This record gives sequence, structure tokens and C-alpha cells, in this order.
Amino acid sequence: KRVRCCTAAGCLSSGSKAIVEKLSTAVKSANLTEEIEITPVGCLRLCGQGPLIYIDPDDTLYQQIKPEQAEAIIDSLNGQEQPENLPKKTDLTHPFFAYQQPIVLENSGKIDPESIDDYISRGGYQQLHHVLLEMTPNDVTQEVTKSGLRGRGGGGYPTGVKWATVAKMSGQQKYVICNADEGDPGAFMDRAVLESDPHRVLEGMAIAAYAVGANHGYIYIRAEYPLAIKRLEKAIQQAKRYGLMGSQIFDSPFDFKIDIRVGAGAFVCGEETALIASVEGKRGTPRPRPPYPAESGLWGDPTLINNVETYANIVPIIREGGDWYASIGTENSKGTKVFALTGKVENNGLIEVPMGTSIRKIIEEIGGGVLDQGTVKAVQTGGPSGGCIPAHLLDTPVEYDSLQKLGTIMGSGGMIVMDQDTSMVEIARFYMDFCQEESCGKCIPCRAGTVQLYDLLTKLVERKATQQDLDKLEALCQMVKDTSLCGLGMTAPNPVISTLQYFQDEYLSLLQAT
Ligand code: SF4
Repeated sequence: KRVRCCTAAGCLSSGSKAIVEKLSTAVKSANLTEEIEITPVGCLRLCGQGPLIYIDPDDTLYQQIKPEQAEAIIDSLNGQEQPENLPKKTDLTHPFFAYQQPIVLENSGKIDPESIDDYISRGGYQQLHHVLLEMTPNDVTQEVTKSGLRGRGGGGYPTGVKWATVAKMSGQQKYVICNADEGDPGAFMDRAVLESDPHRVLEGMAIAAYAVGANHGYIYIRAEYPLAIKRLEKAIQQAKRYGLMGSQIFDSPFDFKIDIRVGAGAFVCGEETALIASVEGKRGTPRPRPPYPAESGLWGDPTLINNVETYANIVPIIREGGDWYASIGTENSKGTKVFALTGKVENNGLIEVPMGTSIRKIIEEIGGGVLDQGTVKAVQTGGPSGGCIPAHLLDTPVEYDSLQKLGTIMGSGGMIVMDQDTSMVEIARFYMDFCQEESCGKCIPCRAGTVQLYDLLTKLVERKATQQDLDKLEALCQMVKDTSLCGLGMTAPNPVISTLQYFQDEYLSLLQAT
């Protein structure tokens, strides 16, 4: 039997390291090293119930394990009937898993993220081999275009179009960059992918580099993700050792290498021009576009930037074909989307669902409903750039366009459930506080506007605001949105605008008390 122990950041923080040690000791003392293998794996997804272990082939997921329960678990695997002290358990028929469709996360929780052999045993690097030996760069771009994949970092720009733009740029030097600067409060999708299956992202980047004619990649990742950085560094070393990175990969003329750049965690560095400046060693501030990075990016050369989840989709698209991928999801939003489902919901964790799944299904079935049998008041998507969806619109499907129509965005995948006791004005103030802290200060509408918006929201929360203040709040939101230089400022007012739209009575009730 194989005991897969989650060693991603969530479970590690709830003590999974001690569990792995205790399980290994229990196996040794019971002389079962031949029969039972203890394997550290990546995220098992039901993060709120960690530490988690999954038993193969029994389909048993133990939850909230304590080190002192390790022996009982091994006893039960050794055929002992009902040992006392076993932790709570479930299996993959649990609704949290039953409605998911793991494509990006297909290896997550199944392989040891620090073992390239484990990755290769599940078909890893076969698609890079196939692409280099049997496809032209144009074939690869066409397949990605056919898949309908759109950028998973938030913008939703068609990935194939972006690749084709970089591919047709002339010039000897081109770059690919992986944006791993995930910074939305409550979001941990990219971190989990990198901690669970780093080679998948490296392989996706190598395929992208071949398609666009680049031979150098950078992964830009925040320093707050030390485990993901460690696993990426290890994966790059392993790939080099196996001849999967460097010169003449698979004896083809393709050379490719990847370097990691660790950022200090400024939210604005997720914006691609700020990210490029930071990789170049300059202060991470955005610049006006055009020119777009596809034309003039890193050190002025054509540069392809995609985020972690986008690259993690490339291997299955090449393996199964663009048509297969395009058959999942909806007309304008293909494939699946990974979300970090958090907040006042029973089942917190990492989920991957086909595009088009309704928010209601995510919360009520996958999420198991609101904590303590409460009711949903709103769901926040898109982080500080997104908005709040009220309870009466929960049947909305998750797709780029339908979420945008509601005044929010898909974003990178944070999904926070709020219950009946949540103050929506406080929520708007929380996100504005975040934006005023993270504003880089380069342009006045964002630098001064976010501070003024925050002050007005504080006045409201403290019940000191007048109708005039509320009018000013609305006008200022529009001004900041229309005149800021980059996406951070342009979208910073979104949480205020959407809560004003759907929860105006809460704003008014605070006024009435003045
Ligand atoms: Fe900086 Fe904000 Fe202006 Fe963007 S919008 S350049 S973050 S000040």
C-alpha cells in the first residue's frame, strides 16, 4: 500500500511533517517497509481539514491527523480490525471531490513533488519530447489556439494569440516568463501547483519557449513562497541532470534554460511591465503600454508572459489535443479553472472545476455550504481587482464574460464566501486598504485616490459620513478607474463599485445613523 502524505504549505503548517515521521517510524517498528510505502506528496486539496493523508489503493482520505494517531493508521493498514484512535476519514466520493475535474491538478497529491522520476512515471516530459521531435513551433501554437485556453492570471487574454504574436516577432533573443507573483488575499492556487507539481510548469514553459522561439525563461516568484521556490530550484537541477534543460534537449537543436527571480512581494509586480522591470533589477513599477511585452519586453526583447496555471495547462493540451480541451467548459471559456475556495464555507481548499460550473454548485455542493449552517451573503472573486456577487446571483456560471457582466472578474482564482454577518462596507474597506498599501505611487489617481477612497470608507464604517461623502465616493471610484496608469489602479475601485451596486442599503444604513 502507498500512504500519500500531503506536504504542501497548508498541511505542513498544520503539522504534516511530524505525521510523516511518525508514520515512517510506525512502519519500521511493525516491520512493514516492504508492504507499506510512505510518500510525501503535494496538495490533497481539502486543505481546511489538514493534515491529510490518502491511502492507495483503499481510497481512504484521513483528515485532521494527530501524530499520536500514526500507529493506529498503520495497524489498520496491517489488517487489524478497527484500531482505536483512528482519525476522521472520507473518500473520493465526497462531494468536495466528486464534482471536480482535475486537469491542472491531475498530479497534485499523487506524486512526490521533489522527485523527477515520479513525474516521469506519470508521463512527464513526454509532451516536450513529442513537441521537439514531431511538431513545428507553428503546430504547437495552433494546438494551443485550438484549445481556446485563455490566460489564467486574471486578464483572460487568448493564450494562442499571445504565443503567435511573440512567435512572429523577429529578433534573435526572446524570453518566456512565468508569473508566479500570486498576491490576491486568500489566493493560493499557483503556490499549490508549484509546491505539488513543479515539473509540470517547467515542461509547459519549455513547450512555450519552443513555440515562440525563446531559449531563456524566468520564473518570477514572491519570497513569501519559500517552499515553492525550494521545489522549483530542485526541479530545475533535476531537469538539468536528466538533460531536459540545457543544450540540444532530446538531441534536438532546441536549447532552453530557466532562472528563478525572487520578488519582494509587491502586489504591483504581478502587473507584467512592473514584473519585467523587477526581473531586470529595477524598481518594480509599471510603464504605459504599448509597446506590449510581446513586442518589447525583457531588456527590450519580445517576451511571452503567462502565469503558473496557464503553463500547467499546456502539457494536457498537447497530450490530448486542443479539440479535447475545447470540448470542456463553455463557448467562450474553455477548460477548467482552479480556485482557492475559502471563507465561511465548510470545505475550504483547492478545487478545479470545468468552466461553466455554477457558483452555487461550488459553494453548496463542493464547498458543503456555509459554516455553522449560515447563509451566503456574497462571494468575492478576483481579489482586490474583483467584486462581490450577491446571493441571488449564485446560479451564475464561472466564465470570464458572465462574471464580468456582474461587475467582478474571474481573476486568478480566489473565491471567498461571506455569510450573513459580513459587513460589505467593511469588505470594501479591507480591499481598499490593501490597494492603498500596494499602490506603487507612480501615478496620482491611484496614489492619492486609493487613500481618499479608503478615508471615505472609514468615515462610513465609523458612521460619520454624509450623503455628500457617498456621492464623492462614487465619483472618485470612477475617476480612479478611468485615469490610473495600470491595472492595479484601474481595478482598485471594483470592490467598492460592486458592493455599492448590490448592497447599497448597507451603505445607506451607515449614513442614516449620522
Ligand atoms: Fe502605480 Fe497605482 Fe499608478 Fe499602477 S495605477 S502605476 S500601481 S500608482
